[in-house]
Amino acid sequence: MLNQAGNAQPTIFAEMSALAMRTDSANLGQGFPDEDGPEWIRELAVDAIRAGVNQYAPGRGTAELRHAIAAHQAKHYGITLDPDREVLVTTGATEAIAAALIALTGPGDEVVTLEPFYDSHAASIAMAGATHVTVPLLARDGRFQLDLQALESAISDRTKAILVNTPHNPTGTVLTEAELDAIAAAAQRADAIVITDEVYEHLVFDEARHQPLASRPGMAERTLTISSSGKTFSITGWKIGWLTGPAELVDAVLAVKQFLTFTSGAPFQGAIAQALIDGDTDIRELRETLARRREVLIAGLSSAGFETFRPDGTYFVCADATPFLSSELPDGAAFARWLPENIGVACVPLSAFCAEGSPAAAEFANWVRFTFVKRDDTLHTAIERLQKLRAN
Ligand SMILES: *Cc1c(COP(=O)(O)O)cnc(C)c1O
Repeated sequence: MLNQAGNAQPTIFAEMSALAMRTDSANLGQGFPDEDGPEWIRELAVDAIRAGVNQYAPGRGTAELRHAIAAHQAKHYGITLDPDREVLVTTGATEAIAAALIALTGPGDEVVTLEPFYDSHAASIAMAGATHVTVPLLARDGRFQLDLQALESAISDRTKAILVNTPHNPTGTVLTEAELDAIAAAAQRADAIVITDEVYEHLVFDEARHQPLASRPGMAERTLTISSSGKTFSITGWKIGWLTGPAELVDAVLAVKQFLTFTSGAPFQGAIAQALIDGDTDIRELRETLARRREVLIAGLSSAGFETFRPDGTYFVCADATPFLSSELPDGAAFARWLPENIGVACVPLSAFCAEGSPAAAEFANWVRFTFVKRDDTLHTAIERLQKLRAN
């Protein structure tokens, strides 16, 4: 059971990016695109600023964007939403997650997440004053899988919410229907709210399909679905996200959002509305580019001597660094700190996504995460440099 209060130390991501900068490394650590999203979407925001859309938007978000979000959920997942009562525009998925946890959980409540987990999830649970309980993923048969037994034992009558991230950062796992159904059953048994982080919903490859938990039978009434435009359209700096679900839960989150940010970036909202309506080709192109880069990175890591799991979604490949560890480099964290200086590549250790001293931190101690959401030349430079590991 974890309950770390937030602190202002630089995150491992900031530390690794600073190290990458200082050593002129190819930065495959922090997961943000180094190419901007579609020009036509960016032009719409420029037009909006020129046309005077520069003051506060409505607290729930503009009607245009709320309608586009509802239409997006209907088109892709068959989920029907009332744009006026069941949709809330937020300042990125990050605010939606924080506001939902602060609104709906507190001291004495337990919030269950997978482990490894995205760093803001743990921080937001701590800010809400709730207790963080984790379900470690299992690295088995080339895939990071949900441990059904661990899920079973994590759920109790104190479970207030289950926070589910799929497609999953950092592992790239896309939860299967069977895994989603196990989570749905657990939530129903505990009468818990489900909060989902689906920011990589469109970045899935091959045969993998993303399915929102809200679309599973009986789940719409207890699920808040969260996503964002940042990853889908390679505009992570705009911070336009959203949350959808039952009106009374959305109202509770709005009451918190009101005093966190009040409203979210007005000139971006119309551009994102159009992107959701007309951006399917752009999404497909991004998915194809990423699928190709995923193969390039996996091949490069394998030829350098890493064991990797092929991710079904997201921006990330996880690699087992065990072949390169030694008494001087005892684990993935030491390896990740050593790599920029000595090889000229940056990555992030999976332990950064685990609670200190947890079973998952031990299970994934030797693993590191590389991102492939970088230009081809950055990827090729990184791969070429990583081949030097073989000779070491
Ligand atoms: C990037 C990321 C976010 C942040 O989304 P924003 O819309 O930028 O706030 C949230 N969750 C996960 C898993 C992410 O990787």
